[in-house]
Amino acid sequence: MLIVMKASATPEMVVQICREIERMGLNAHPIQGTRTTTIEVTGNGFPVDPDGILSQPGVKEIIHITQPYKLVSREFSSSNTVVKINDVSIGAPEIVVMAGPCSVESREQCMTIAKLVAKSGAKVFRGGAFKPRTSPYSFQGLGEEGLKILAEVRERFGLIIVTEAMDTETMDMVAEYTDIIQIGSRNMQNFSLLRKAGRKKNPVLLKRGMSATLEEFLMAAEYIMAEGNHNIILCERGVRTFANHTRNTLDLSLVPAVKQISHLPIIVDPSHGTGVRDEILPMSRAAVAAGADGLLVEVHHDPVSALSDGGQSILPDMFEQMMQEVRAIAGVLGRSCA
Ligand code: PEP
Ligand code: MN
Repeated sequence: MLIVMKASATPEMVVQICREIERMGLNAHPIQGTRTTTIEVTGNGFPVDPDGILSQPGVKEIIHITQPYKLVSREFSSSNTVVKINDVSIGAPEIVVMAGPCSVESREQCMTIAKLVAKSGAKVFRGGAFKPRTSPYSFQGLGEEGLKILAEVRERFGLIIVTEAMDTETMDMVAEYTDIIQIGSRNMQNFSLLRKAGRKKNPVLLKRGMSATLEEFLMAAEYIMAEGNHNIILCERGVRTFANHTRNTLDLSLVPAVKQISHLPIIVDPSHGTGVRDEILPMSRAAVAAGADGLLVEVHHDPVSALSDGGQSILPDMFEQMMQEVRAIAGVLGRSCA
């Protein structure tokens, strides 16, 4: 349940309502907005008598949350969440493109790719330092050395960094070096990892689990928000189906479905979503047309020698073309792209 206070409510009125709620054996979490305060009520105390609360000074309305998710829903926040990092806003009219290799392989590799994607208009650089690989014998990432390379990319090119935190043990280290913490598909329901990300200051890029429903996806975001971190970017990256012409089936219908229920921004990853280089440009265009707030794309200057996902990585000239096409589609929708 959410108690929305009037704009004219005083801090004392908010404190008084919180006291009433706690007297009922429930927990009150006041959330200070720009103009009004909303009190989130959680716990299993006595049922709250809405009439009693509604008649208290300063209370505007009570919102009953029927869906399982609360904080991620539009009932909690009618305006869209915009995740701001330096001068980049995700969830604003401008479409934000995140690009880079699947894995951080070397300093030289990252500097080469970063320079090219920045020139074409990418605002965020991606690259895994800790890699979730199906086989334990595959390249697992450079670890902290990779994070240091990413931090150097930020210094040199002014790009924002997104990289994956694979476990709770290494999340502190990842958070120190990166701007955005990525939670990968395989970890979408790793609840201790979600909770830990929820206690971090960094924005979180949460990827959809490969067989997650919309509700499960939003509930995972709810875990992060419930810990206090409201800067979440959702990412559709394809789900497992019977189709074998692609690695996953990119579910673009999720984008408008999320937009209807949630105020959180959503971006699309056509690289993992299809796993096929020639599908990336058409699906990037389609993602933007479907209303995505951004794209996450794997780019490699030498995909043949890539240590992971070379087959789905696009070449820098394809990335340049993709940006031009995305810009044109964004324009049709009254949006823009750098
Ligand atoms: C990635 O983006 O590096 C990645 C491993 O993606 P996913 O978690 O979607 O498989
Ligand atoms: Mn990859």
